[in-house]
Amino acid sequence: MFDTLSDRLSGIFTKLRGKGKLTDADIDATAREIRLALLEADVALPVVKAFIASLKERARGAEVSQALNPAQQIIKIVHEELINILGGEGRRLVFAKQPPTVIMLAGLQGAGKTTLAGKLARWLRTQGHQPLLVAADLQRPNAVNQLQVVGGRAGVDVYAPEPGSGVGDPVKVAKDSIEVARRTAKDIVIVDTAGRLGIDAEMMRQAADIRAAVDPDEVIFVIDAMVGQDAVQTAEAFRDGVGITGVVLSKLDGDARGGAALSVRHVTGQPILFASTGEKLEDFDVFHPDRMASRILG
Ligand code: GDP
Repeated sequence: MFDTLSDRLSGIFTKLRGKGKLTDADIDATAREIRLALLEADVALPVVKAFIASLKERARGAEVSQALNPAQQIIKIVHEELINILGGEGRRLVFAKQPPTVIMLAGLQGAGKTTLAGKLARWLRTQGHQPLLVAADLQRPNAVNQLQVVGGRAGVDVYAPEPGSGVGDPVKVAKDSIEVARRTAKDIVIVDTAGRLGIDAEMMRQAADIRAAVDPDEVIFVIDAMVGQDAVQTAEAFRDGVGITGVVLSKLDGDARGGAALSVRHVTGQPILFASTGEKLEDFDVFHPDRMASRILG
């Protein structure tokens, strides 16, 4: 991911090397090239606009340091602005004062929710927690089974309706799971919910109903970083339809242009909490805006 953007940026910086001082015309030309590079990487237009406005202001401003040459100054500003759009300091998971902490996962079908449920459960176990996975995705025939497989791999219990029990109500399953967690001394409940291939009113309503029933401490929107410009609409729909408190980027190991990853924080106003980088449960880590920004700059 980000290979093209990294190459483009490094080409832009190379042109600045050897320049003694940057004129306003140099700054404008550089800003224009960076704008194009971001747009070609599928970064959403409002994010690009905010980025470029800040870049120009800072490049022209008084902060210009004597210790850095013009190329280094621009690289420093771009680095800091990348960190900024990725969420600055970052934020850690919020835990309930009274366990269980409830984490609800939401996102389109195929975004990586069920895989994330397993990754998160495994990671939380390594932190000394006792998570319970909850199969509230009763839409796809195989979803419950898939969560059970993932739970088995992560070594955590899965709460799911018995096959053929007639319990087909995901809101009830989610609600009941909190009591199950209390009874079985689990301190974290991770609720996997149903997605659809596209934004769908019924899916949003169900997710909103689950949210209302379990009053989660975190509602994590899982987004496939491989999707391009559609990411913005999807993120906005979940922000407005369900209400989200954080984001997880999945499939960062793919070779997409990376625009979704760079836009989602700005578009949703919510922090990116974790990053998923593969199909295995261990391909997962806390998200660090500064590390991602450094990776983009190569
Ligand atoms: P859900 O429909 O949102 O629950 O999505 P799934 O968890 O079933 O994931 C959909 C597909 O994406 C599966 O084939 C996963 O193995 C795959 N997947 C999930 N996360 C990642 C990731 O970070 N990287 C890669 N390469 N594949 C992933």
